[in-house]
Amino acid sequence: MSRCEKYDVGKYKYELKKLNKNTPSKKKIVKKTVKKPTKKVKKTKTLRKHKSNYNSKYTIQDVYVQNNMIIIDFNTRITSSYLTFFEQKYSRLTKDVFNIVGTFKEAKQTKLKMNNVHRITVSQFKKDRIRIVLSNKTNLKTLFRIKKNRIIIEVTNIPKSKNRTRISPLMKKRYSFKRNKIVVIDAGHGGKDSGAIGPGKKYEKHAVLKVAKNLYKILKKEGYKVYITRTSDRFIKVRNRTILANKKRADIFISIHANAAPKAKASWANGIETFFLSPARSDRAKRIAAKENKSDMRKMDYSTKSSFLTILNRPKITASQKLAIDVQKNILYRLRKSYKNVKDSGVREGPFWVLVGAQMPSILVEIGYITHPLESKRLYSRKYQLLLAKGIAKGVNSYFAKNP
Ligand SMILES: [Zn+2]
Repeated sequence: MSRCEKYDVGKYKYELKKLNKNTPSKKKIVKKTVKKPTKKVKKTKTLRKHKSNYNSKYTIQDVYVQNNMIIIDFNTRITSSYLTFFEQKYSRLTKDVFNIVGTFKEAKQTKLKMNNVHRITVSQFKKDRIRIVLSNKTNLKTLFRIKKNRIIIEVTNIPKSKNRTRISPLMKKRYSFKRNKIVVIDAGHGGKDSGAIGPGKKYEKHAVLKVAKNLYKILKKEGYKVYITRTSDRFIKVRNRTILANKKRADIFISIHANAAPKAKASWANGIETFFLSPARSDRAKRIAAKENKSDMRKMDYSTKSSFLTILNRPKITASQKLAIDVQKNILYRLRKSYKNVKDSGVREGPFWVLVGAQMPSILVEIGYITHPLESKRLYSRKYQLLLAKGIAKGVNSYFAKNP
């Protein structure tokens, strides 16, 4: 029944184990200079040299606001030497600046909200250091304390009760891995490129657009930053699809397509499969890729084609494969709750041009065969389209929960 479980999931676990073993080499901290604060200085701590105990595994797992506190959770026990503080005074603004040793993946200029504080930003301002800046018109009184693997920065001169930003532990967990994750959804084909055509002039481009738009709405609602390559029936060059993803610095790229079988096989060929990019292995993958690549593969110049192989790096392939497995599993799970005979055609690798240019883990989901009598009907039903999107979204959640 489930090929996915028999073959690919095992591989996923193995890959995960292998990845976890790969801890980066130790780094030494060189002398730190702390910026001289202007005018009034309240508290300043200098960063001491960390002997051997600092390396890049000191990652920050989460940064969030609870009442009048900013909480920074590390993956390990920490000391006060992890933090330096200074204050900057401007004519209309006071800034409390905290530099904290550690890397935090989600720190691409995150903003935190705390009532009565004008602005709080979190950024990875150096490779191994994040910076939290509290800006306010009036002077804020801040204190920090260290608790095992946690730094708590407390603003003591704002009314506690007015803060509504309390996040329950559960919410926090749900929230933390989605925050700032950027997903680009690609609705395959469009405009003059109809994609595959099924009986009764059923076009691939229509079914995939519906699913893509559903997915867009769901992910957006869940708190992701989401972009979509098209929201209407218009033609987009294959290359421009990943250009969008790269420009938006997406964390993942999901291209949605539907399959078609030649007449002789149309009555029985069905199933859902998820591809991740790799040089073609099987004839089958090559064939499907050739079909999906058709729209403007010919226009690709030599250098684009030859860069294909160089772009493929192991970590990206592994991440793409994980994403593919999570998405495939969850689509099947969702659909099978409501529909019988949902076929798992597995997670596969293939040389899809649409995935080539993407700098992030990327997959291509073939949501089914528009040439199959039963599957085709389903692919154009609203309920099925929605469940497909829900399944993909669950897969995305599952991927990020495991690979923050
Ligand atoms: Zn397609």
